[in-house]
Amino acid sequence: MEQDTKYQQFIMKRFIESYKGEEFDLIVIGGGITGATIAYEGASRGLAVALIEKSDFGSATSAATSKMIHGGLRYLSTFEFGLVRESLRERRVLTNIAPNFVHPVPFLFANYKNDRVSALKMNVGMLLYELFSYDKNRIKDKSKKMPCFKTLSSEKAAELIPNANKKGLVGAQLYYDCASHSPERLTLAFIKSAVSYGASVANYTQMEGFIVEENLKTKIVKGVNVIDKLNNSKIDINGKLVINCAGPWADLVLDKATLKQGNNVLRRSEGIHIITNKLVSDYIFSGFTPTGKHFFLVPYRNHTLIGTTDKEFIGNPDEYKVTRKVIEELLNEVNSSFGNGSKIKYEDIVYTYGGLRPLVEGQTEDVYNSSRKYEITGEKKNGIEGLITVEGGKFTTSRRLAEKAIDKAIRILKIPKKPSISENEYLKTCEIDNFRDFVLKKQKQYADLLPQQVEYLAKSYGNEIDALFEIARENPAYKETLNADGENLAQVVFAIKTEMAKTLPDIMLRRTGLAQLGHPGKEVLFKVANLAAKELNWDSRKLNTEMEEMEKILKIPN
Ligand SMILES: Cc1cc2nc3c(=O)[nH]c(=O)nc-3n(C[C@H](O)[C@H](O)[C@H](O)COP(=O)(O)OP(=O)(O)OC[C@H]3O[C@@H](n4cnc5c(N)ncnc54)[C@H](O)[C@@H]3O)c2cc1C
Repeated sequence: MEQDTKYQQFIMKRFIESYKGEEFDLIVIGGGITGATIAYEGASRGLAVALIEKSDFGSATSAATSKMIHGGLRYLSTFEFGLVRESLRERRVLTNIAPNFVHPVPFLFANYKNDRVSALKMNVGMLLYELFSYDKNRIKDKSKKMPCFKTLSSEKAAELIPNANKKGLVGAQLYYDCASHSPERLTLAFIKSAVSYGASVANYTQMEGFIVEENLKTKIVKGVNVIDKLNNSKIDINGKLVINCAGPWADLVLDKATLKQGNNVLRRSEGIHIITNKLVSDYIFSGFTPTGKHFFLVPYRNHTLIGTTDKEFIGNPDEYKVTRKVIEELLNEVNSSFGNGSKIKYEDIVYTYGGLRPLVEGQTEDVYNSSRKYEITGEKKNGIEGLITVEGGKFTTSRRLAEKAIDKAIRILKIPKKPSISENEYLKTCEIDNFRDFVLKKQKQYADLLPQQVEYLAKSYGNEIDALFEIARENPAYKETLNADGENLAQVVFAIKTEMAKTLPDIMLRRTGLAQLGHPGKEVLFKVANLAAKELNWDSRKLNTEMEEMEKILKIPN
């Protein structure tokens, strides 16, 4: 971490490039939200932490979410009251500590005559949901207060959502939950917070094996062997304790410690989303499909985000990709439940993404019914010391999971316990008391942009927005906006200079939202790629490879 007086904020540096062999208290494998929250929790409680991520931060399951920070209404039907309460509590915590990222949004859950769960039961569920979120308005930012749910008549529901199917509609519930403006940047905010407390982090650094000391009965983990994928060098990192936060790869990482391939089997469930180019509803619309699963349509940046699926995935997570078959299955389910006659067509799709949920429950026949709880396990049972594995969970509950994982780490390391601060302290870049006032202030300050564009950037950058515009002030060419949300070339420079962006997909898909609505157009892609090439010293071959990779990611499966 370095201070740059020009941008007046943190510059993240890949520690692996200057690593000298020091011993960390904790090595975290995986830079998704689980690894990010654990690194922050550990560093903020005084541990010397290193985090390694084999790809980019937040590029796997953590980028594949429905963008919700929620209690999980549907887990009430499986009586997982503890999980719902914990999630609702964490929703409130994240609203407090990450005010630019987490925002209340209205949901409309439509009830139909033949639904798997009747309207009456849905109302009872809503009452329970309210009960479990009794403290939801105990928040610092009063502009984020959430009203109580309402039951609506079928007429009112149809009026609010003209595209809802009318046949069999018996009513609806209107309630509030939270959405995450950018799960990718929220993951990054946790990583920046970890760095601000001294954590060492590196993307494109893959764990290849464990450094192990063996005695008669046990293996003691003393660190990890990694490969720095940006320059192909092999490095050993020393650490007293390793936490495996590899998400859907957790079993494969564990295999390397137990030296038994396929010994540790993790169940994975595929979930995809599609984005269409039309806004079909002002509310998040949710309901049951004919097969009894739930679906939703989320208004998202003037488009519609549609999700999701839940299907067991068998195979190597590195080879996972979204297929036309699964997109069509989702479209069929949604079209039979929504649209009032006008169907969503394959050609309406501008972008698709998917991910694998690591599930800790192996017994349920249908993965849809598998629990979203998490588990934190020491590997002593496998005869291994110095290794903890974390599996399962939700984006929403990861901060709490991290608190518990670090409690366990502190016990194992036998160091004095320092209380956790993560529940109350703002994340780095998020120190904003009242988000509405903050946006109004920034709209006045940056009056040359449209108000909605300033709001979008304020959500993405929090109080780093001024550092971003400083770049644009130095070189007015970087001010050029590239999409309707006001995203601009200054963000590209900012991402590369300060946020460890190393590839075109890092810039287009995670540091910015430039390609999160599908292909931004050849011209924009070319401009961004050329600027990235200049900042990252790419030759023309590398530039072409990056462009090709981006085109591959943006292609709708056919
Ligand atoms: C379709 C879908 C929708 C979802 N929607 C929501 C939602 O709306 N709200 C919510 O709260 N939750 C949601 N979730 C759940 C949420 O996405 C996950 O709980 C969360 O992202 C898991 O994060 P993670 O860090 O454990 O895993 P990941 O994000 O997958 O991170 C694991 C990381 O480990 C890295 N890694 C693996 N092997 C190695 C290695 N050898 N060396 C170094 N790094 C390695 C990977 O590259 C990866 O980045 C959803 C999940 C899915 C699939």
